[in-house]
Amino acid sequence: MAARIGLLGGTFDPIHLGHLRLALEAREFLGLDHVRLLPCHQPPHRATPDVSSAERTELLRLALDDCPELHLDARELERDGPSYTLETLQSLRRELGEEARLVWILGCDSFAGLEQWHRWRELLDWANLLVVSRPGWDLPSQGTLANWLSEHAVAPEALLDRPAGAIAVQTLRLLPISATEIRSMIQSGSSPQFLLPDPVWHAIRERGLYRGR
Ligand code: ATP
Repeated sequence: MAARIGLLGGTFDPIHLGHLRLALEAREFLGLDHVRLLPCHQPPHRATPDVSSAERTELLRLALDDCPELHLDARELERDGPSYTLETLQSLRRELGEEARLVWILGCDSFAGLEQWHRWRELLDWANLLVVSRPGWDLPSQGTLANWLSEHAVAPEALLDRPAGAIAVQTLRLLPISATEIRSMIQSGSSPQFLLPDPVWHAIRERGLYRGR
């Protein structure tokens, strides 16, 4: 049987339980072999984070230590310049072969901004998309993106029938946690403990990350 691989890209600034539950819920829902978390080196659509990609990746490594279903894939750190998802998918496809079922997983907040992504329509040449509802966010109901979605939409059970080219939308149980909120909690001196894995929180404290300049 062809490999079935989930892919969750993000800034992970820092990684939190919302990301980890999303990856696990998606893996179980689609019956994926594993989900790879791909930290972004240089986000093309937002300011470069204060915490370096190497440090964000190190926190991710700590978070995944005890979870064999989720893998760290740090390939974006090996490319200079903006970390375009299209290039990441091309490199994964070269590595995993033409038959592998690739599923790029994204929250509907990320999906809503997809038209800003580099050559976004071509993403479907390389992978399928799973768009997951996230508290407080709705899918676009009209416009280019909504039309593109309805053109390529399939039922979630059919998403892995082909290596690439389809989009499924699914509600999964998600935790209302955001990295923005965690960063501002740390900056203002409140504790984000239990919103992110303990080893990650310990490392953030020890290294004095996210305290502001
Ligand atoms: P920020 O608050 O800095 O924008 P974030 O918490 O949204 O960060 P990202 O690294 O930007 O995290 O997100 C990576 C992916 O994880 C995106 O597809 C996003 O939609 C999804 N995601 C983030 N937080 C959650 C959550 N709590 N539940 C489900 N999906 C999430």
